[in-house]
Amino acid sequence: SAKMGNATQKAELGRSTWKLLHTMAAQYPEKPSSEERKALYQFFKLLSRLYPCGECAAHFQLLLKQYPPQTSSRVAASQWACAIHNKVNERLGKEIFDCSNIEEKYNCGCDEEGEKESLSL
Ligand code: FAD
Repeated sequence: SAKMGNATQKAELGRSTWKLLHTMAAQYPEKPSSEERKALYQFFKLLSRLYPCGECAAHFQLLLKQYPPQTSSRVAASQWACAIHNKVNERLGKEIFDCSNIEEKYNCGCDEEGEKESLSL
């Protein structure tokens, strides 16, 4: 049915988005510049406004007010993303995830400093 389809799409969107967020956090600099910190913070704030599931976006905005994005380091960002995902898990009655090996789990192996530098200039 259409309702089943919506639920499936919402879950699929959620899985894809979480994958992106955790991978971004695992790839975030260990010593970010103030520009990089600002960018990550703004990214999450904008995501919470533009996320294409209205109910999810509204809840996420409230969560971000309570638990502002942590941007001081890769570890801080990764742990924060895991914790905020767990807040959503909790609300949806899902299992709480163990955050201790989070950076390894989401290591995409795409740490290409050289490529990044050549693109930015
Ligand atoms: P997901 O929660 O999608 O997780 C995918 C995989 O990530 C899991 O299989 C596990 O391997 C891993 N994982 C689980 N927990 C963590 C964690 N804490 N840290 C790192 N990895 C983890 N759905 C709603 O119905 N209502 C909402 O209000 C809602 N709000 C959302 C807000 C945001 C910002 C996002 C991104 C998604 C939201 N969703 C919401 C979708 C929901 O969170 C799930 O993505 C969806 O229900 C599919 O769940 P899942 O069980 O497949 O696993």
